[in-house]
Amino acid sequence: MKRTGILMVVSGFSGAGKGTLMKRLLERYDNYALSISMTTREPRPGEEHGKHYFFVDRNEFEGQIADDGLLEYAEYCGNYYGTPRAYVEKCMEEGRDVILEIEIQGALKIKDKFPDTVLVFVTPPDAGELKRRLTGRGTETEDVIRERLLRAVEEARGVENYDYIVVNDELDKCVEDIHGIVTASHCRVQKSIVRIEKISKELSDLSKGEEQ
Ligand code: ADP
Ligand code: 5GP
Repeated sequence: MKRTGILMVVSGFSGAGKGTLMKRLLERYDNYALSISMTTREPRPGEEHGKHYFFVDRNEFEGQIADDGLLEYAEYCGNYYGTPRAYVEKCMEEGRDVILEIEIQGALKIKDKFPDTVLVFVTPPDAGELKRRLTGRGTETEDVIRERLLRAVEEARGVENYDYIVVNDELDKCVEDIHGIVTASHCRVQKSIVRIEKISKELSDLSKGEEQ
């Protein structure tokens, strides 16, 4: 029976540790395909085009929207972010476990398109730690950090739409929590119901054979 993959969306406040978690998850397990988003924001030091994001200008991004090249997109703190369609569709076809690390508006659009999507929200242990991580990362100005913390307050209001909340306190524990959610999702009834139907039919045919 062909293996079907899980489509998982990981969201969370800026600075919660999503990028760090995804890196560790992919280093540890080889079943995941992480979608690389397209964005109009400027690269941070150390970020590479095609590895962390596809960095494009607004014109190019709007061209992708017009060509239906994005599965979803949203504006976040003044920049566009979107999920290139082709890679995700190809990985889903191949039955891989696909992860989209995207914000909440995009997450809800994905859930609309693919109702089986598992939505996971990553939170830091508390607000003080979030601010420390954002400041400690050293990649944003004070103004941008303030804007992102305000956005975090808005995002918190949408969290009841998610299936799971994971606390990123101890990094490795959180990685295992996320992997555990995917493992459990593979055992959801609707993913294997066909197998049970097939076994039931075979059992019923077998017992008919015995009766004759
Ligand atoms: P996000 O992708 O959610 O914006 P990052 O992955 O860039 O967040 O993490 C923000 C900062 O917090 C980084 O400097 C990262 O090293 C740090 N960080 C991430 N997870 C943890 C953790 N569990 N404990 C301490 N620091 C962490
Ligand atoms: P950052 O600038 O910190 O890399 O990302 C800002 C926010 O945009 C994060 O919440 C991140 O999850 C989200 N994001 C990244 N890629 C995408 C995407 O393709 N679509 C949407 N909707 N959000 C994204």
